[in-house]
Amino acid sequence: MEECIFCKIVKGEIPCAKIYETQNILAFLDIAPIHKGHTLVIPKEHFPTLLDLPAELGQELLETMQKVAKALQVTVKAEGINIGMNNFKPAGQIVFHAHFHVIPRYANDGLKLWPQKSYENNEEMLDLAQQISASI
Ligand code: AMP
Ligand code: ZN
Repeated sequence: MEECIFCKIVKGEIPCAKIYETQNILAFLDIAPIHKGHTLVIPKEHFPTLLDLPAELGQELLETMQKVAKALQVTVKAEGINIGMNNFKPAGQIVFHAHFHVIPRYANDGLKLWPQKSYENNEEMLDLAQQISASI
């Protein structure tokens, strides 16, 4: 199988602007940032999406995102931080090696990440919550 681009970055076969790493995690700058400092946090091991990630990696991933977010407050003076993750093609996933986006935001930077809809009524909303809850 042809290796994915992030696996090649982990192996050092493709360069990256590295920010931080542990035995299991790598953080590096996104090559096409929403704002400068936009960082990708990835597990070094290849897992395609969120649904494949071992839960044990969760703590280290969260700690890394927190460290990066704090560093972005200091370096690029981020006033807000978005955490994003695209999973599967309809959600915009291009690289199928699970990764979290840590995105610096600024007051009045003009970005609106997604449009929002509404439920017909409260009953519809509560009924759907029940269905989702029952399938967990
Ligand atoms: P997505 O799968 O939609 O979350 O998008 C993948 C992200 O990876 C995009 O934001 C790209 O700009 C970024 N990306 C792709 N190749 C590289 C690379 N070689 N170095 C850094 N970022 C990359
Ligand atoms: Zn990979």
